[in-house]
Amino acid sequence: MGTLQLEVVTPDRTVVSKVVEMAICPGVEGEFGVLPQHVSLLSALKVGGLRYRADGKDEYIFISGGFADVNNNVLTVLAESAELAANIDSARAQQAKERAERRIAEHKEGVDMLRAEAALQRAIMRLRLSQLR
Ligand code: ATP
Repeated sequence: MGTLQLEVVTPDRTVVSKVVEMAICPGVEGEFGVLPQHVSLLSALKVGGLRYRADGKDEYIFISGGFADVNNNVLTVLAESAELAANIDSARAQQAKERAERRIAEHKEGVDMLRAEAALQRAIMRLRLSQLR
């Protein structure tokens, strides 16, 4: 059936570069799976978990949103930030969640609500994924 190379890249570093059996990406219009021999595809991603299977084992990666490109059996994910579930600092995510909730609740002038909502979403997703490692 062939192989699929997964590359998850942020502006700072390569988070994952490995051969996988399949991956499921958090597309803005819903999750989509990628197997070897997938047709070429470009999709925007939302904040979510990317699941992949390698050596028969499922792994999860936090993705802050970005883009997925499938071409010639390479799935490239470009994200502003991404971490393997095992590398998520759940205490930090909990603090980020509380900070965002406080900002949203106070709703002070000058608080960028969209930014606070986005930070809250990232924190909730990180906490959820940190339990799956
Ligand atoms: P925080 O307010 O805690 O910085 P954030 O959602 O604003 O959270 P990002 O802007 O998404 O953070 O990420 C900034 C950098 O910090 C990235 O390199 C990201 O991988 C890393 N990072 C953020 N939160 C965590 C976490 N809970 N565990 C591990 N790495 C994290």
